[in-house]
Amino acid sequence: MSSPFCAQAPILVTRPFLPPLEETTKMLSGIWESRCLTNNGPMHQQFEQALSAYLGVPYISLFANGTLALVTALQALRVTGEVITTPYSFAATTHALWWNNIKPVFVDIEPGYCHLDPERIESAITPQTTGLLPVHVYGHPAPVEAYQTIADRYGLTLLYDAAHAFGVRQQGISVLTHGDLSILSFHATKVLHTFEGGAIICHDKRTKTRIDFLKNFGFADETVVVAPGINAKLNEFQAGLGLLQLKHIEPAIAARRALAERYRALLADIPGISCLHPAPEVDYNEAYFPIFIDAVAYGHSRDAVYEHLKSYNYFGRRYFYPLIASFSAYRNLPSAAPANLPMAHAKAEQVLCLPIYPELEMVHVENIEAILAAFGGGGSASG
Ligand SMILES: *Cc1c(COP(=O)(O)O)cnc(C)c1O
Repeated sequence: MSSPFCAQAPILVTRPFLPPLEETTKMLSGIWESRCLTNNGPMHQQFEQALSAYLGVPYISLFANGTLALVTALQALRVTGEVITTPYSFAATTHALWWNNIKPVFVDIEPGYCHLDPERIESAITPQTTGLLPVHVYGHPAPVEAYQTIADRYGLTLLYDAAHAFGVRQQGISVLTHGDLSILSFHATKVLHTFEGGAIICHDKRTKTRIDFLKNFGFADETVVVAPGINAKLNEFQAGLGLLQLKHIEPAIAARRALAERYRALLADIPGISCLHPAPEVDYNEAYFPIFIDAVAYGHSRDAVYEHLKSYNYFGRRYFYPLIASFSAYRNLPSAAPANLPMAHAKAEQVLCLPIYPELEMVHVENIEAILAAFGGGGSASG
């Protein structure tokens, strides 16, 4: 397409940030020298300490990825039976329950930030319910007090999928301090990444010790295996990479924020398109930039917008569509019925995450706005 708003090379929804190669090879030469490659080596210990300090959480255990962190977290807290969770998330949230032989019970989301709706949780509780598994969707803090009140009243374990919420603080306090524990993901698409990686944040030494045994086959020492654990260890290369990423995280988040603020300012004038605004007391990480397209007010469906942007070389992603409750593995559960999840379905039909990553040039934000403005109401940005 010859439009001035067309990107020359494809712009994807994200592009992983990487530390300078020289810093990385220097880190690698340390590993080559030590021959310590995994099993709680020096890089692993340093990365755990550095994260603990940066995030303001005393107990953190590193994992090979976020999914294994979640699977192990459920084991560590001995969650069984039924767990109430959200259909509006990445597949791994519910899959972690399935891998623990736990029945997921889907509850609808609230319209503000697309979080598990606290008002709808109690009516889904049964004698088999042992836990709640909400998500800080897109990194915006979920209604943590409301969840905790319910968890306390019914004696439920409260685990957070905080895969999107790296570094997010509320009134200066990490969002990872809530509930019984939280998991993070350091996947390549996340705000801080180690190619693949993850972590569990818990709140006492005893729980961390159990988590650390479980991620290493259940070994407590050379000869004692205390539980049927798994191998979910983060290796020294990933830990070293994590340390370098952490060094560059502040400017990376600042770059995301500048882009997000420009998106918010520009998109405000387009009828039928809305976006999320971080709450005033929140230090948000700008992990994603979802927009919601009201097909009637805008004049085109979300899928039409998605295709239209692609024709200009801009590739958004429909996070989260389809809903987890629509996957073949789960769609026959009674709680997965569309009538039980009207808000989640509405949001899944409207959402499109726009490109955002630290190295994205501002001109692309402006192009995307120009394309969306011209396309709305049946216009055209081409030519
Ligand atoms: C990325 C993600 C995960 C899984 O993390 P991995 O590190 O990719 O295994 C879990 N939950 C949510 C909400 C995610 O976005």
